[in-house]
Amino acid sequence: MKRRDFLKTSGAAVAGGLLLGGAPALSGCSSAAQSTDRDWGNTDVLVVGGGPAGVCSAIAAARTGAKVTIIEQGNCLGGMATRGLVAPFMTCYDTTGEVMVIRGLFEEIVDRMVALGGAIHPSQVRAGTPFSAWITTGHDHLTPFDPETLKFVLDQMCSEAGVKILFHTSLVNPILKGSSVTGLRILTREGLGRIGAKVTIDATGDGDVAARAGAPCTFGNPEIGKVQPSTLFFHINNVDTPKLTKDVEAHLHEFRKVNGVSYRALHWRVEEAEAAGEWDIARKSVNIYRGVKEDEWAVNCTRIANVDATSTESLSAAETEGRRQVQELMNFFHKYVPGCEQATIKSSASTLGIRESRHVQGEYLLTADDLLQGVVPEDSILCASNSVDVHGRNGANTTEYKTVEKGQWYGLPLRSLIPLQIDGLIVAGRAISASSDAAGAVRVMPPCMAMGHAAGIAAALAAAKGAAPRNIDPAEVRSILKQQKAFLG
Ligand SMILES: Cc1cc2nc3c(=O)[nH]c(=O)nc-3n(C[C@H](O)[C@H](O)[C@H](O)COP(=O)(O)OP(=O)(O)OC[C@H]3O[C@@H](n4cnc5c(N)ncnc54)[C@H](O)[C@@H]3O)c2cc1C
Repeated sequence: MKRRDFLKTSGAAVAGGLLLGGAPALSGCSSAAQSTDRDWGNTDVLVVGGGPAGVCSAIAAARTGAKVTIIEQGNCLGGMATRGLVAPFMTCYDTTGEVMVIRGLFEEIVDRMVALGGAIHPSQVRAGTPFSAWITTGHDHLTPFDPETLKFVLDQMCSEAGVKILFHTSLVNPILKGSSVTGLRILTREGLGRIGAKVTIDATGDGDVAARAGAPCTFGNPEIGKVQPSTLFFHINNVDTPKLTKDVEAHLHEFRKVNGVSYRALHWRVEEAEAAGEWDIARKSVNIYRGVKEDEWAVNCTRIANVDATSTESLSAAETEGRRQVQELMNFFHKYVPGCEQATIKSSASTLGIRESRHVQGEYLLTADDLLQGVVPEDSILCASNSVDVHGRNGANTTEYKTVEKGQWYGLPLRSLIPLQIDGLIVAGRAISASSDAAGAVRVMPPCMAMGHAAGIAAALAAAKGAAPRNIDPAEVRSILKQQKAFLG
């Protein structure tokens, strides 16, 4: 049995259990804190997870007047954008490529990185170029950035806003009063502890807080019982970029099109490697994006199916398999790809890239149809045009890619961030209330950052008023978002 098939089988078995159960499996953990727990005091807004959604939530809540603590299990802010090495930021423009629609905190972060030489402004980055992996549709105005610069900028912005950051700190379980989250039990370097909070924001990407509090969740795509595949990202340098580009451009006409999108960079080289028995990855082409420096590229190409991001065993097996595939890809680059003969691994991600796990069920379930038809609800807290992008659901070369059919953008309602049944809690980022396909669009980083921006404002308002987040007037959130330079149409 090939290692890939073994993983497929073991991963599917683990994921299978959860696909049936959804979220409430852990709700029994929501017990009160123990008297031996260290008391970390109280805060207005407590953000769990320092990824694109969480960090923007924290900064926005603090700028809106709240006392804010953010906890992050890793050692830096940025989540997938830093520890996960995911790059570039997907488009922040509308469907015409003329209007920048994700602005506010996202734009400020980009501008700060550009000023430090750690990003290229999206206005200068066009589709069909090495910066967009030569993809055309849906890939205009991406933002290449350097993860080290991003780490620094996010630290700086949190510090300026007065956000208290606790790295090396994990969620154990929410503390509940009735159906309201009133704080968290956490695991720190000192051991178990507790923090009280008026409002908690679940920005874990996996909906960990919501699920453990007992909010209803689905897992992956319940209709087919699958999640999108995972990818361990890595960055390479020492690439002779003009030579690589020449090879790709000579084959551009051969790219396979899926709804107008080219998905087959280097497929001619993959065919050679496969014929020689040197390719064992469940895809037939390579997604590589040029970075800020000319010789650096982000490689989005390892593929591990059926990973359950809520299972330690499933994640552990997948991390190891991801690193095996990185070695296979380096062999591929050295032997088969012109310009990559001397390439070296600049870094590999310190955490596996998870495209999909839980979807927390909220006051509104966002659907792919809403996005493709350009629906803009009255309580929209962001506008975006990101396409529905579902990878390899049915094996290699089965990417589904659907672009917005009507209008310049769609809206994302505040209601999709408010979980059913649980108070004192807002969800931001990958786990919001969206169907599996809709999540395949809004999970990319610019919309996640815009969701965080809105979640932080809503949380600060709820904390100040002593109100449940579901009772906050979306018009008030929208008005503050506009003051804070967000684009709402
Ligand atoms: C392979 C892959 C390719 C992608 N390609 C692109 C792309 O090209 N462009 C783009 O814009 N987007 C892309 N995305 C999407 C994007 O990276 C993620 O969907 C996005 O980062 C989600 O943001 P988030 O803040 O919700 O979650 P994350 O980025 O996952 O951040 C969650 C944070 O929470 C922390 N955390 C989780 N659980 C706990 C806990 N229990 N206690 C404490 N901390 C916790 C994590 O350590 C992490 O820092 C890609 C994603 C993947 C996986």
